[in-house]
Amino acid sequence: MKRFEYIRATSVAEATSAAMEQNAVFLAGGTNLVDLMKVGVSRPDRVIDISGLAELARVEFLPDGGVRIGALVLNTDLAYHPQFSRDYPSVAEALLSAASGQLRNAATAGGNILQKTRCSYFFDLASACNKRQPGAGCDARDGENHGLAIFGWSRSCIATHPSDFAVPMVALDAVVEIDGISGHREVLLDEFYTLPGDCPERETVLQPGELVVAIRLPPESKTFAQHSRYLKLRDRTSFAFALVSVSASLVVEDGMIRDARIALGGVALKPWRAREAETRLKGQVCSDTLFREAAEVALADARPSGNNAAKIELSRRLVVRALRVVEAGNADQPRSLPGSVFAEQPKVSANG
Ligand code: SF4
Repeated sequence: MKRFEYIRATSVAEATSAAMEQNAVFLAGGTNLVDLMKVGVSRPDRVIDISGLAELARVEFLPDGGVRIGALVLNTDLAYHPQFSRDYPSVAEALLSAASGQLRNAATAGGNILQKTRCSYFFDLASACNKRQPGAGCDARDGENHGLAIFGWSRSCIATHPSDFAVPMVALDAVVEIDGISGHREVLLDEFYTLPGDCPERETVLQPGELVVAIRLPPESKTFAQHSRYLKLRDRTSFAFALVSVSASLVVEDGMIRDARIALGGVALKPWRAREAETRLKGQVCSDTLFREAAEVALADARPSGNNAAKIELSRRLVVRALRVVEAGNADQPRSLPGSVFAEQPKVSANG
């Protein structure tokens, strides 16, 4: 294994200062980074362990009605937080649909949104990969690519982002709080990610040394609580990344859609917000015809990046299904869906 310097940070300021060194990385739960280091995909010179920063491990319900999720809040604790899961069921459902119980007990909110792609060529040092080695080429283009991108891809990279959590968070207009040596700034999660273009090695707007300290949901996110779900299709039922996922949220009054949010996962190098489909739904009466029209609009710009045209129809059908389920409301439906994570029992927190 390559030798690296290990620093255990005692404050955010210490962590961000230490991270100004070239080829430094932050370590939190380690569920992604350690795997990448083991196979030699990530070869940092300095590892800054931030896992002891207790101030980043809190869920705070804000006076304005929003919620602030510290970057070190564990996936399990957030998913089973009674108030959080009641107010944001699609986020809880996305968290519980991801990985395994053991991983969710160690993985953090900040690490979740910063996961690396699961493109198999990225993990294989014998393959050409522009993301791992700029200019090397992309073996996925002519390889096994049935699960790769249908939106926002480029000739340089056709990978997808693996996070489930980030999909409803983008749909609900989450904001990322970032600290660095230049101070604090905030970015919409939807604008936090960059598309591959000619620089697939760059994945977010983070500058050298910057640390994600929290992710915030605005007050209006809660208005979707009664009609908000996350549906995920994958090659096997558990412990697999999404082939396609849909986060759908509606505000429904007397059958009329007052507000709508849709984002797709597993289709691009970022969660893909379907804003035009949302516009198509707003002010309309719920119906299957309307849901099909919205799904058509949501997938209108999709194009296969390889042998994955089937993902477009799969996505279209999943949008329709998600909207049907969401219209019915959370109270009536969750446990009846095949493979629903809401069927899981018991709900045990990693912290007891
Ligand atoms: Fe690498 Fe992207 Fe090509 Fe996968 S799709 S091999 S991550 S460049």
